[in-house]
Amino acid sequence: MPPSLAATPLPITPSHRPDPTSSSSSSSVQLLRSLARSRRAHLAHRALLLFRSLHSSPSPPPPHFSLPAALSAASFLAALPEGRQLHALTVKLNLSPAHTVVANSLLHLYASCGLPDAALALFRHIPAKSLVSWNTAIDALVSNGDHVGALELFREMQRDAAGLAPDAYTVQSVIGACAGAGALSLGVYAHALLLRELGGHGHGHGQAVSRDVLINNSLVDLYGKCGAAELARQVFDRMPDRDITSWNVMILTLANHGRVRESLDLFDRMTRLENVVPNAITFVAVLSACNHGGMVEEGRRYFEIMVSEYGIRPRIEHYGCMVDILARAGFIQEALDVVSGMNCRPDAIIWRSLLDACCKQNAGSELSEAMAKMALDVPDDAVSGVYVLLSRVYASAQRWNDVGMVRRLMSEEGLKKEPGFSSIEMDGLVHQFVAGDTSHPLSEEIYMKLDEIEERLASSGYKPDLSEARMVAGMDHTKGAALRLHSERLAISFGLLKARAGAPIRILKNLRVCKDCHTISKLVSELYGVEIIVRDRIRFHHFKDGVCSCKDYW
Ligand code: ZN
Ligand code: ZN
Repeated sequence: MPPSLAATPLPITPSHRPDPTSSSSSSSVQLLRSLARSRRAHLAHRALLLFRSLHSSPSPPPPHFSLPAALSAASFLAALPEGRQLHALTVKLNLSPAHTVVANSLLHLYASCGLPDAALALFRHIPAKSLVSWNTAIDALVSNGDHVGALELFREMQRDAAGLAPDAYTVQSVIGACAGAGALSLGVYAHALLLRELGGHGHGHGQAVSRDVLINNSLVDLYGKCGAAELARQVFDRMPDRDITSWNVMILTLANHGRVRESLDLFDRMTRLENVVPNAITFVAVLSACNHGGMVEEGRRYFEIMVSEYGIRPRIEHYGCMVDILARAGFIQEALDVVSGMNCRPDAIIWRSLLDACCKQNAGSELSEAMAKMALDVPDDAVSGVYVLLSRVYASAQRWNDVGMVRRLMSEEGLKKEPGFSSIEMDGLVHQFVAGDTSHPLSEEIYMKLDEIEERLASSGYKPDLSEARMVAGMDHTKGAALRLHSERLAISFGLLKARAGAPIRILKNLRVCKDCHTISKLVSELYGVEIIVRDRIRFHHFKDGVCSCKDYW
């Protein structure tokens, strides 16, 4: 962020009649553009200063030449105050939203400043939207995490923007959105579009795609995040060239899918056979694999060689994995030793994973309370998770007064559990469910299906485990808190209603799957003979024939 610009407003005056023929003005615009394109903060800062001086000069360059460069410098710096002044200037000069190139630069500015709504509002007013306008607006949503919104805008583009065919940039954003939303069939469609797009522009059919490492990396990531580890592996295996990111993405994908041995084998191949030097991110992936597989000994070993063989200084993510590996496997004291030897301050995630392990292993309320206290001392948005865990500790110790105290604390601080949702893609549309949702057009059928599932489960001898649900229901007074209405059950019912026979049901859940939903998913996979693939906040669960790929260690 530039330190001084915010304090010195840019001159917001319409420029004098521009003289596009003036050679000094055109060379200044050239300079402005190359400064803006430099992707270096101090040069981008200079671009903004140059723009200001150009515009107060007696013969300023035409604003529609210089403004896009100035806006691009402001975008790079994510300098919102300067950007807003430039926006005001464009309005005054009648360039926004009428002048498409200038308006596109403004879209990009708002996207870079984390204001996708402002970008979208402006986009709606551009009278002659170009392909760049659509691409920038879609990308604004993707880069700010609104994947479903981005996919809707892409559909709108295909429906309404006659004559504009998506290009490689569009498809790149759409692939990112599909990965974020776990939308596999749309992702496959985007992949096909990409092959067609690049094939149709003199690159030779599909050839350019396989050469482009960046694109292939994003395809590996896409398939991995959509629950199709096999497809991710195919793309990876066929890559003619790979960079370190290719390896990292593939190792992490296999780890997240619980294919732990394969993940670690790939690391060995990378380092021993292909002589690729791993980086800090590689070790996050490798330690995640050990964590998902409950492999304590390997975890210790990889952590050790990361430091001794590769000279990588552990970061908070590595410590986080290591503490989680040890604590979940019952080595709580060793995990605490890791924490005390850290070269940085432990974050709330580390204390929470210790607290979680203490709860699961009945380590005693004293230790759990100490962990909870540490977790609450670290500023963090997700404090409510700590309270939920702590009240579980008190409940299992039958300390009901303390349970009540935690609930009071939560309501006093206005804390609520982060609302959970599950989404499922069907025929190119993403359907999202929250707990107790009745907003879906097929809601009635979905609930009928849910009743049927419950009857079949009950007659097979299943009894719900209410230990987690009661706790949560006590704290979260929304009507959807009841166990049977957890969002993934609605998604599963919808999936059973609508999925093609034999096709797996793929669900994305923003939180961790609860114990009882995990049990139910296993039973449904057996009773209905269907594969259910759930991506939760931590990892993938592949439910098939009554068992889960995580082997119930998650
Ligand atoms: Zn649940
Ligand atoms: Zn599982």
